[in-house]
Amino acid sequence: MTGPERHYPGRHYPDRHYPDRHYPDSHYDVLVVGAGFAGSVIAERFASTGRSVLVLDRRPHIAGNAYDHSDSAGVLIHRYGPHIFHTNAAQIVDYLSRFTEWRPYEHRVLAQVGDALLPIPINRTTINRFFNVALSEQDVPEFLARKAERVPDVKTSADVVLSTVGRELYETFFRGYTRKQWGVDPSELDKSVTARIPTRTNDDDRYFSDRFQIMPRLGYTHLFENMLDHPKITLMLGVSHQDVRDQITARHIVYTGPVDEYFDFRFGPLPYRSLRFEHKTLDIPQAQPVAVVNFPSEQVKYTRITEFKHLTGQTHHKTSLCYEYPTADGDPYYPIPRPENAALYARYQALADATPGVTFVGRLATYRYYNMDQVVGQALATFSRLMPDEAAHMRGAAATPSSAA
Ligand code: FAD
Ligand code: UDP
Repeated sequence: MTGPERHYPGRHYPDRHYPDRHYPDSHYDVLVVGAGFAGSVIAERFASTGRSVLVLDRRPHIAGNAYDHSDSAGVLIHRYGPHIFHTNAAQIVDYLSRFTEWRPYEHRVLAQVGDALLPIPINRTTINRFFNVALSEQDVPEFLARKAERVPDVKTSADVVLSTVGRELYETFFRGYTRKQWGVDPSELDKSVTARIPTRTNDDDRYFSDRFQIMPRLGYTHLFENMLDHPKITLMLGVSHQDVRDQITARHIVYTGPVDEYFDFRFGPLPYRSLRFEHKTLDIPQAQPVAVVNFPSEQVKYTRITEFKHLTGQTHHKTSLCYEYPTADGDPYYPIPRPENAALYARYQALADATPGVTFVGRLATYRYYNMDQVVGQALATFSRLMPDEAAHMRGAAATPSSAA
């Protein structure tokens, strides 16, 4: 990393609301609750059709969990933990490219195992160093097949790993990390959780295999500032939907907060996992060899340490780190994929489907463990469903009838 120390925009948060120029009316075509990816994409799409849009967020900043800002040392950090953009969908990259330039970034993670730092996802290097062997790429599948346990019906997050790499690697890399992160044993979590992590027989040590692995060049908040910078969009920050819902009317509401909260927890709260983020700045330029070091041992209370400069490419004489401590209480970050939670969500979903004039979009509103690109895709698809004419027109295709707002 070379060049002058860079100044990043978006550093005014949370000292003042953005932007100052707007003052709320009491009626809008669309009210959007939440200024994260789901809400901001929907707001931008409706505003482009000429609809007036009010975006509310109870936090004092835009960008939801993707919010980044310069810390007091001037290092660009992600307030809510590391956010790495990766996707296979060219149309999502094309859409977001209207609001940002990108820098290429391939994410790499090492796991601290004893004194060693080993690549995760498990690859040939991990296996050779962990078992002290010297397997070729051709040897690895057979070696893993001998280690793997027979699981006739792969259902849980334990099953996925045990049936792929066997017990030693499972217990070292997955069991403790997952128990810390989710507060339950991997055997009680849906298989989709650990299935996020591939196993590789070669030396590829990238965390993701997606076609596009890029970061917004000036940060996520800058991307959101551009997305929301539209004359038809009014932004109110530090305001809860509950605070204003009797004063503001809208022809349509798009809600991106927690679905159980919208319905006053009528069927009981949906379980979420939370995190406490501990941010630190060190007086050295670099602290660890890669952006993220994972700590699978249950003896260590945090799950991972992130060093942001690897993600952002920033040059600075100091470095800032974030430690993640999983917690049961706190902001809802992770919907917990378990069958009983899916059943509870289904009851809320039925209620949501039967609520006219309100559309539920995003990770919290649809109770899905979605990445950013999936939320953008969901928001674009929702807009197309609500406004087929305009969506088709915007894509340059022939218009079709019907509209929502
Ligand atoms: P959010 O970003 O949560 O936005 C919802 C917004 O609604 C919030 O700002 C909230 O304040 C507001 N809100 C809620 N209720 C109300 C209300 N009643 N009134 C007013 N405002 C309200 N994804 C990736 O692709 N790559 C990653 O590397 C990655 N890392 C992650 C790391 C962590 C620690 C976490 C927690 C998530 C990570 N994600 C990652 C997922 C990513 O954060 C989400 O996919 C994305 O932010 C979801 O966007 P959203 O708009 O649905 O929700
Ligand atoms: N996981 C693990 N050990 C690791 C990395 C991941 O056990 O070193 C498991 C853990 O259950 C985690 C899940 O795999 O929650 C998905 O990991 P990912 O990095 O995708 O989690 P996120 O970035 O969404 O927190």
